[in-house]
Amino acid sequence: MSVSGLRFASLGSGSKGNGTLVEAGGTRLLIDCGFQLRETEARLERLGIEAASLAGILVTHEHGDHLGGVGRLARRYGLTVYLTTGTSLAWKDSQVEAVQIINPHQGFSIGAIEVQPYPVPHDAREPCQYVLNHAGLKLGILSDAGHVTAHMREVLSGCDALMLECNHDLHSLSSGPYPYSLKQRVGGSRGHLNNAQSADLLRSIDCSRLQHLVLTHLSETNNTPELALAAACEALQRSADWIVCAEQEGGLGWRALY
Ligand SMILES: [Zn+2]
Ligand SMILES: [Zn+2]
Repeated sequence: MSVSGLRFASLGSGSKGNGTLVEAGGTRLLIDCGFQLRETEARLERLGIEAASLAGILVTHEHGDHLGGVGRLARRYGLTVYLTTGTSLAWKDSQVEAVQIINPHQGFSIGAIEVQPYPVPHDAREPCQYVLNHAGLKLGILSDAGHVTAHMREVLSGCDALMLECNHDLHSLSSGPYPYSLKQRVGGSRGHLNNAQSADLLRSIDCSRLQHLVLTHLSETNNTPELALAAACEALQRSADWIVCAEQEGGLGWRALY
């Protein structure tokens, strides 16, 4: 891979566990880890990566599908964990030596990657998401948000690649098997983005540079890849082989930006 490029992949995406790999200029980061240690190692190996080569783990929030596997992975390989004050306070398993508290409004660098965190509305203590920059290339990550704020639109505009939550189809959720309280939580303003909300976000930001759009965090009960892809393709007014869904089991193989 060229030094000026950036590539990314998913260990898995969905309510049973999440993890995203980003690599640029020789720096490798993991964003969230919701898998047990053995499972994480196997999924990293599938993508040709050794955990010891990671420069750190960025955490979005304390829910188990994002933070559940971070502690053991960080301890096993001596990795630094980056998280907000609120997330660190909510973290039960906090015996990690190298913890870096971040301000979700302030950018910072890890090796060759510039990290821009941004706050999102979700039912956690202090959730944030991330935009990663390297050599003029911009990867936006957004999962676990109940609605889209003006600030989120601003931060995610002009991305070269975007990993975007399409958690549920609104009709499938409302007519589906979830109990009423869970439907309220998932569909609420601090829950998860549905296909229509994500499509609306795509319509409202600059997508002219987009080389990859990856739909993430799909509910296995209240969504299908077909429904999510249809909503995204309609919003962008095109269908393309670079618009794909990340899977819970299979994740997503490496995608490269130049
Ligand atoms: Zn969450
Ligand atoms: Zn989640």
